[in-house]
Amino acid sequence: MVRNFDLVIIGGGILGTSISYFLSYLNKSKKIAVIEQAHNVAFHTSGRNTGKVHAPYLYNPEKKKMFAKAAFHGYDMWKKYSELKNLPFKEDGVIEVSQDKQGTKVLEKYLKWGKQNGLKDEEIKLLTKSELKKIEPEIECSDALCIYRDASTDYAIFTKSLMKDSKQNGIKFLLDTKVTGIKNKNGKWKITLNHDHEIFSNFIINAAGGESIDIAHSVNVAKNFTDVHFRGEYWKAPKEYYNLTKTSVYSVPEFPDYPFLDPHWIIRVDGTCEIGPNAVPVFSPYGYKRSENLKEFIPKMLEMLGSGARKAIFDKQFQELTMKEIRSSLSKSAMVDRVKSFLPKIDADKITEKGTAGIRSSVIDEHGKFVPDVILMDDPMSFHIINYNSPGATGALPFSVYVINRLNEKGFFRNENADSQCGPWKFSEIVEKIST
Ligand SMILES: Cc1cc2nc3c(=O)[nH]c(=O)nc-3n(C[C@H](O)[C@H](O)[C@H](O)COP(=O)(O)OP(=O)(O)OC[C@H]3O[C@@H](n4cnc5c(N)ncnc54)[C@H](O)[C@@H]3O)c2cc1C
Repeated sequence: MVRNFDLVIIGGGILGTSISYFLSYLNKSKKIAVIEQAHNVAFHTSGRNTGKVHAPYLYNPEKKKMFAKAAFHGYDMWKKYSELKNLPFKEDGVIEVSQDKQGTKVLEKYLKWGKQNGLKDEEIKLLTKSELKKIEPEIECSDALCIYRDASTDYAIFTKSLMKDSKQNGIKFLLDTKVTGIKNKNGKWKITLNHDHEIFSNFIINAAGGESIDIAHSVNVAKNFTDVHFRGEYWKAPKEYYNLTKTSVYSVPEFPDYPFLDPHWIIRVDGTCEIGPNAVPVFSPYGYKRSENLKEFIPKMLEMLGSGARKAIFDKQFQELTMKEIRSSLSKSAMVDRVKSFLPKIDADKITEKGTAGIRSSVIDEHGKFVPDVILMDDPMSFHIINYNSPGATGALPFSVYVINRLNEKGFFRNENADSQCGPWKFSEIVEKIST
């Protein structure tokens, strides 16, 4: 087994795998490995999300500039990649509804943000209730924002395909392999795997999703941040509801200062429908089950109480939101009622099967505030991507190009060829797009 690498990427989610994809074209002779603890890539959040290729209308161009830009270009890139590889990509749009005047003001703001983030007039339109009724008779709302440049896909399929391409270009994927220790030894990283053997690397990229902050802390980076994990649960709708709407429906979030949305009516790429996700606080990035949460409860509470998260925990609005989310986890009808407010035909009794839950890890700073954008931190031997949340899957390809270019500019991990053709894209052209 190879034990010495030029670069190790920790995390085989959509982000780590997208980074490996571009590096596999740019650095043909370097030894690069992706380390993933699960038995396949995209086993956690990247394969457990809503599967939307989001248009950037929800993102404040000032506060979530990078996410918005990546989402905008991500749409075209996934579309191109899906055509090349014959993968699912359905350009089905999305509708965001308001229930009152205040909500409509939020829609007006989204319309403005969407256009500021690059959407054309014909790609996003504000409709009145009666205009919407003509195309979606079952939806009850005050007004609706129709976003036509939005799509559905399956990000686990994309990630597996990117892994295949990366492997063909020489990247090693160490699956079922957990990074359990990192130490700097004589100017190299000594990385312990599964507690029992070691490899060495000159450079590390930390794309470990819900564990990225722990990996960063282990090498003394991002010490002033902590994270809180939220489980997003889904319920599957029965077949008789599959034609209720033509488009997925989101509603204006009740608590916009927190990093999650209210549950949506989702039409997945395969035509099945679901309700979700909510955002239930849990104690581990893998807290799908009670046993894992019980195991991590005490260490996570101690960590949160000793950090900025303490202020968030005692914040009244956060507590209210948390109680609502817990209620919607304990009671199916509490969750379904949130969607019933705009799709009154839905009957909770007819919804009996749970969908696959996914967990997001939101970062809190030392003042107890949720950080809205992705956090990038580096030292001369490592680069850390933290708080890479929604619409992270949408933006993963352009964002990876951004990360690689930034490493190059800083002189940390120089590409052998800065202008390679990477699959259907020229690297330099994507750099130009995301830099302007
Ligand atoms: C409920 C929900 C719905 C969402 N819906 C959408 C959507 O519709 N559209 C969209 O664009 N985005 C969506 N997102 C966001 C998107 O899914 C994430 O931004 C994206 O998947 C993050 O990718 P990642 O690669 O950073 O993380 P992950 O997918 O979590 O990957 C990180 C990987 O690192 C591995 N890892 C961690 N620690 C170690 C270690 N020590 N050793 C080895 N491996 C390790 C983990 O096993 C994991 O596989 C949603 C998120 C959630 C939670």
